[in-house]
Amino acid sequence: MLRDLPGAAIRTQLTLPLRFADGFATTARIFTFDGLADGREHIALGLGDRSVAVTRVPHTGAPPLVRLHSECLTGDLLGSLRCDCGPQLTETVKRIAVAGGFLLYLRQEGRGIGLYAKLDAYTLQDAGLDTYDANIALGYRADERDYTVAAQMIQALGVKQVALLGNNPDKAAQLGRLGVTVTERVPTGVHINVANARYLATKARRGAHTLELPKGAPQTEPLVDGATDHQRCPDPLALPEHDEPTHRDVRVDDLWVDGREVWNSPA
Ligand SMILES: [Zn+2]
Repeated sequence: MLRDLPGAAIRTQLTLPLRFADGFATTARIFTFDGLADGREHIALGLGDRSVAVTRVPHTGAPPLVRLHSECLTGDLLGSLRCDCGPQLTETVKRIAVAGGFLLYLRQEGRGIGLYAKLDAYTLQDAGLDTYDANIALGYRADERDYTVAAQMIQALGVKQVALLGNNPDKAAQLGRLGVTVTERVPTGVHINVANARYLATKARRGAHTLELPKGAPQTEPLVDGATDHQRCPDPLALPEHDEPTHRDVRVDDLWVDGREVWNSPA
């Protein structure tokens, strides 16, 4: 049970047929909520045996598979290769549709700093900072995300225990502190390409994400010329100017891991 938090309630629920770019189709139940702590319009998708109406009658059986997916306009919608959000969204919807559970789509763009600030952070990353230091250089914490609303949504859906689908230990830790029992953590696949390899390595190294990166993949994001790992530049004004993009355009046939193309690797 959530402590010291206002209770949230299901506001609306309706059927939402889905079809993804690769042709995968399923039927979801989409939920909106009243009373979420931050006042934003977060949604939940019920999938598989959870794509039916939520009623007052408790659902029996195994804990549902639950994914906390943070909004990423560039990755989810535009197919940006700078992160792995798009393939993770597709993978997790497919897996939850089989196992039964919920995908919570949380409006926390850029680890909670917003879209424009995320793009500002990309500019700093092009100048040499890694994904966490770039957020810090802009005056934010490395990760601003708060999963209070996720715990509220899980409670409103009548769920007390979840199998958590994802690689980020902070999500399980926060849910646990908020009173949601995480019975197990289920890792997602690794969606690596030439543009996001260093980003994924940084998430594994600095964010303790559970990611089995392939041998030979870059282990850190590029540093400012001459800087060591401990000499990252904290002041964006001191960074060199980059008028030219430092990431070359990436074509689909550039996607790489150990010589294999992995962008659409099966889960
Ligand atoms: Zn993303």
